[in-house]
Amino acid sequence: MPELPEVETVRLGLNQVTLAQPIRGGDVLLSRSIAHPLNVDEFLEGLKQVTITDWQRRGKYLLAKLAKSDSQEISFTTKEENSGVAASPCPRVPASIAKRDAGWLGIHLRMTGQLLWLNQEEPLSKHTRVRLFFPDNWELRFVDIRTFGKMWWVKPSQTPESIITGLQKLGPEPFCDEFSVEYLLRKLHNRQRAIKTALLDQSLVAGLGNIYADEALFLSGIRPETLGKTLSPEQIARLHRAIIQVLQTAIESGGTTFSNFLNVLGVNGNYKGIAWVYGRTGEPCRVCSTPIQRVKLAGRSSHFCPNCQQLP
Ligand SMILES: [Zn+2]
Repeated sequence: MPELPEVETVRLGLNQVTLAQPIRGGDVLLSRSIAHPLNVDEFLEGLKQVTITDWQRRGKYLLAKLAKSDSQEISFTTKEENSGVAASPCPRVPASIAKRDAGWLGIHLRMTGQLLWLNQEEPLSKHTRVRLFFPDNWELRFVDIRTFGKMWWVKPSQTPESIITGLQKLGPEPFCDEFSVEYLLRKLHNRQRAIKTALLDQSLVAGLGNIYADEALFLSGIRPETLGKTLSPEQIARLHRAIIQVLQTAIESGGTTFSNFLNVLGVNGNYKGIAWVYGRTGEPCRVCSTPIQRVKLAGRSSHFCPNCQQLP
């Protein structure tokens, strides 16, 4: 499943290719890929002749700000404010487009969703679910093998949170000040559960999944099954630093090669080559050569080094 770095990689790619051009129309090949509005025609109508001014991200959700296309006044976001690890935690409407507001397009890739920027003449794969047409024969194609991915069109009068209910439960973004050592300490100390399970809870921190939770626990020397409330403040500070570090490294690598992840131009990321423990069961630890082990926690596989990651 794409996690924060993969979704961020897709977001950066979408900001490079889809902005400042009117959506000509679209085609929904699988109606259940559209979560809202339930009427697919209404979804397509909402997107027609609108322009994407900015792609934002909240957790693993992509949020495209939409503006009506018939304006000369729209100022487009054409490049990232900073290095690409920029957090985009809160959906915001630039003041310059407020009166041309055409709502939001929300997308969650779930297990296998891919957004590809292609020429319309590229043959359709049988897993193509939604197509959005752009000028010069370009299209944004949503391909999804397992069909858990979803799209939403949010009307200008509504907030993304009111329609995309998953946004309401999201915890802070890992790159935001709100996600502090004190916050993590407070949250982990009042629940009785394994640290790995806690890290996958999107209400604790937005965007972490199985890969980067395992990697962060390795880097902080903590066993996945350790109860969160038994961690010392020093361990929590180490874990906090490790979470941010693994996510930044993965974003800089363009996401992982796991789960058939592709960026919008169809290119694989290259994080896999530097994974410490994820997916390396039985292989030697990169630090101490002890074989990496796997344990199931809350139904998810967790990978760890029994030597580098000690139980308290
Ligand atoms: Zn080791």
